[in-house]
Amino acid sequence: MCKDCFESEYYKFNSTAEFNKFNNEFDSKISKTILFVSTDKYKTDFHNVYKCKTCEQIWWLSDPDNHWRGYFLKEKNAKKIIDTDEEKGKLIKYGCLIVILLLIFISIKVFIF
Ligand SMILES: [Zn+2]
Repeated sequence: MCKDCFESEYYKFNSTAEFNKFNNEFDSKISKTILFVSTDKYKTDFHNVYKCKTCEQIWWLSDPDNHWRGYFLKEKNAKKIIDTDEEKGKLIKYGCLIVILLLIFISIKVFIF
């Protein structure tokens, strides 16, 4: 990170106050040292992409919205988080499927004997 970048990354905005603090820093840097690149989609995640003019670091911003806490991260860290969440989602999905199959199997056994 260079001096024109952001001081910290936010894995999620824990409060409105925290988001406002970030937003103040963001407002003071946007279009001066930080440039808007595009709105992008990675897997199921939508976010805005920004780039530091000085060091070319790519940042992803997802605004908080109702229950969604949002995030502001370097591209590689954002990808990592999204990948991990997706893996967790898969695990839960397959975990549930196995439990359901087991229940069906047990019901059939009970029904037959
Ligand atoms: Zn920078």
